Amino acid sequence: MKKGKLIVVSGPSGIGKDTVVAEYLKRNDAYKSISCTSRKIREGDIPDKTYHFITKEEFENKIKNGELLEYTIYNNNYYGTLKNTIDEQLEKGKDVIMVIEVEGEANVKKIYPDAISIFLLPPSMDILKDRLINRGNVSPEDIEDRMKTAEREIATSVRYDYKIINDDLDNAVKSLENIIKNNINE
Ligand code: ADP
Ligand code: 5GP
Repeated sequence: MKKGKLIVVSGPSGIGKDTVVAEYLKRNDAYKSISCTSRKIREGDIPDKTYHFITKEEFENKIKNGELLEYTIYNNNYYGTLKNTIDEQLEKGKDVIMVIEVEGEANVKKIYPDAISIFLLPPSMDILKDRLINRGNVSPEDIEDRMKTAEREIATSVRYDYKIINDDLDNAVKSLENIIKNNINE
């Protein structure tokens, strides 16, 4: 059986990664990897769907037990991908989408050199800030932290295989579909 493709989507917090990927999944068959995180549940989060929410101690145990494919600390919280499900889904022929930050992408590319990496860019930094604010449930300090991190992340986007500007949502989803379709037909 033909293996599935691994697709890594990165981009600054609030750019719309989850929105674009959720819309892609409504229109296409793929498996979205569910990460573990020690961050607090945010409005709109659904436990065990958006993330597996665990404590810092539980996360550190998973690191010790070698359960994670990759992990990082982002804005003082742990985030990581569980090893077990990714290969299982790829072997079944399912495409797997991981929504992770730039350090995670670099680690995944070392393990899966054929992974397709895609970076979502904001139309402007002001629009990015508006989206972060409108999503709600974050302090002004957190917004500033995320904006600073965003600048560093955008600087690394040059190494990604593809970049999509998430301006109009439908156009961004169509770009994602074209990239994945073209790679699958190779
Ligand atoms: P991320 O997963 O990158 O942190 P989200 O998917 O949570 O970002 O999106 C952040 C906010 O931006 C949400 O309120 C979402 O509804 C909004 N958003 C996402 N894509 C667009 C778009 N193309 N145009 C306008 N708003 C968008
Ligand atoms: P948020 O708190 O906005 O949900 O996520 C913060 C950042 O962590 C985002 O850039 C998100 O893509 C990234 N992230 C989520 N899960 C993982 C993961 O498992 N590994 C890595 N490296 N980053 C992740």
